[in-house]
Amino acid sequence: MEVLKVDNVSMKFEELTVLNHVSFSVPKHSAFGLIGKNGAGKTTTMKLIVGLLKPTGGKMTVCGEQVIYGNTKTNRLIGYLPDVPEFYGYLTPKEYLKLCGEITGLPSSQIKKKTEELLNLVGLEGVNRKIGSFSRGMKQRLGIAQALINEPKLLICDEPTSALDPMGRKEILDILRDVTKKTTVIFSSHILSDVEKVCDTIGILNQGQLLLQGNLSEMKENYSKMGVRMDFFNAKDAEEAEKVLVDLPFVFKLERLEMTL
Ligand code: ADP
Repeated sequence: MEVLKVDNVSMKFEELTVLNHVSFSVPKHSAFGLIGKNGAGKTTTMKLIVGLLKPTGGKMTVCGEQVIYGNTKTNRLIGYLPDVPEFYGYLTPKEYLKLCGEITGLPSSQIKKKTEELLNLVGLEGVNRKIGSFSRGMKQRLGIAQALINEPKLLICDEPTSALDPMGRKEILDILRDVTKKTTVIFSSHILSDVEKVCDTIGILNQGQLLLQGNLSEMKENYSKMGVRMDFFNAKDAEEAEKVLVDLPFVFKLERLEMTL
């Protein structure tokens, strides 16, 4: 059963076409990586799924329910970690998650247990400092906990590892890998080497179109069978990945070559 279906979705900001007939689906218990360089349309895609933007064409469903702009019906199914999460800096993580639990309508009998469970998951148990003093990595970890408070069917993480140091990135990737055992995940990034540590399927977004999508290991195997060294898949850091992503049309040509072989 599909947790998310994005069906022929287009998005224009006035004259600028940001998404052009994009379709993909994410089955239950899978982790989907949305890859693309800066400006490719990743954040726009995430905001459309969450219902924060209204598409200019197409439709999306979450667990079979249509996402309708301005209607919060599908929100209870989704946990969302935006690219720049914002918090009440004067609260401790425990106080903050309690507040989030209350806002999302979690029964008060469950809030304490859920808060402890999530603080453990993200390694912030016993941290009693105010959030305003947190590092970026700690804020991202708290953001994941916050997004999971209502036990969503789908966790959407927009660039959760961007601008983190290697240790911070590793912590986020370990947590997300853990989350995928129970929850369907979408993870957007311009760093494929991060995405492949968490995701089983990927879609590559370029100039508003989904160029390639499919099972990551099959994709890698197919390319290596063709004798193509996919540096793209071995990029070690953001800078290197970005360089290879600039060559995306080349990847696209390879796919077409494969189809004609
Ligand atoms: P990514 O997340 O892949 O970096 P975005 O979805 O943030 O890409 O942006 C895609 C394109 O849409 C960019 O050119 C950006 O400037 C443009 N864009 C995003 N939001 C808006 C908006 N609210 N109004 C006008 N243009 C926008």
